[in-house]
Amino acid sequence: MRFTGPLAKMKTSLKDEVKYYLELGDDILFMNDLIGKRIRIEYTDEITCFCGKRVHEVFRMNFCRDCFFTKPEAGDSILRPELSKAHLGVEDRDLEWEKKHQIQPHLVYLANSAGLKVGVTRLAQRPTRWIDQGAIEAIVLAETENRYEAGMIEVALKEHMSDKTPWQRMVKGEDVEIDLREEKEKAIQWVPEEFRSFVSSNDELTQIVYPVQEYPIKAKSINLEKHRGVEDVLVGIRGQYLLFKSGSVLNVRSHEGRHVRLDV
Ligand SMILES: [Zn+2]
Repeated sequence: MRFTGPLAKMKTSLKDEVKYYLELGDDILFMNDLIGKRIRIEYTDEITCFCGKRVHEVFRMNFCRDCFFTKPEAGDSILRPELSKAHLGVEDRDLEWEKKHQIQPHLVYLANSAGLKVGVTRLAQRPTRWIDQGAIEAIVLAETENRYEAGMIEVALKEHMSDKTPWQRMVKGEDVEIDLREEKEKAIQWVPEEFRSFVSSNDELTQIVYPVQEYPIKAKSINLEKHRGVEDVLVGIRGQYLLFKSGSVLNVRSHEGRHVRLDV
């Protein structure tokens, strides 16, 4: 069977084990069913930006040139929430869009994805964000009213812990045991006084199990532009990574928009 279309971030649902769905062209593939099977993914040299334009190269976050420099979806506050200004009525690129996106409940969370990390996400993105990062466990540290407040808390926490997922360790399943409730207790003191009222009393732990038959021992990241594709046995999926038997791993999200042919 052959499926074609531009790659998009896999959709997920959190059950006993995460379920992954990849939309490709008119089809939706239930990826868990492909684990244990040999598949082939081939890049066909075309990229569709989220605006619909077809291009041959993209900027950071897979935006075409126009979008990267003009669209609010590519604005500074996307990667750096602390730069959010919509709550002050100050426009970056499109105040209406920014108000909708920034002035809504956000979470500052602690997660264990092959190490302790802090992150920010919209409340509505929970637990999707944690799954996309390959976390095995997460806890809410604070629930804020807007993106700026969450960003400021994260900036303070970054002095004490990472805000990045060590993806090489994550895709090899090199997990460590972390007591997130204990880490949260510790982290509260680093939340700036003015934002302390946002600290959440919810100590519930979200646990996440990924469909992985076996973890690769070595991991090398596939770059579709450079390597053109991959043909190998899919042994698991974690975060937005497809894990292959040989140790090749493909970050689906970072290749969003690339047109591929997928043969099963
Ligand atoms: Zn575009």
